[in-house]
Amino acid sequence: MTTALYPGTFDPLTYGHLDLIRRGARLFDRLTVAIAENPRKTPIFPVDTRMNMLETHTADLPNVNVTSFQGLVVDYARDNGIDTLLRGLRTSGDFEFEYQMALTNRSLAPHVEAVFLMPSPEYTFLSSSLIKEVVLNGGDASRWLPRDVYDAVLEQLR
Ligand code: ADP
Repeated sequence: MTTALYPGTFDPLTYGHLDLIRRGARLFDRLTVAIAENPRKTPIFPVDTRMNMLETHTADLPNVNVTSFQGLVVDYARDNGIDTLLRGLRTSGDFEFEYQMALTNRSLAPHVEAVFLMPSPEYTFLSSSLIKEVVLNGGDASRWLPRDVYDAVLEQLR
């Protein structure tokens, strides 16, 4: 059975993340979406809220589960017997960062492989931080994330 781990901040969850989750769920027998609890980041939503949002919007995918972790993703993968990481590639900017991170992870945990998927073209420019920027400055970001998540973002940021 192939299991992959899709780590990220998901603050907030976007249609880009969901596009990647659906692709991963088709490719792997099991996909674990793992929210990284990073003490250096100040997310707008607590982990529990992000977990509920992810669970709600992946409820129709029986082979997807959602969890959270602290520390290194490769340690979480090893402790849970997972040897594939899933990450998204949007632009060449992502490539630079992901390439470095994948090789760092490989150096730390040689048995863990990273797999990269591209989202649908309409999501290639989409990022959680840009959505927050648009909302903070009074723009309409509703087309880029599920309605309930968008309402929660509005409540949080306005
Ligand atoms: P991180 O803080 O780890 O970058 P994110 O939640 O921003 O967390 O992203 C998690 C993963 O999802 C990353 O691999 C990122 O490239 C990917 N991702 C984010 N947005 C998109 C998108 N619109 N299309 C495809 N992949 C995406």
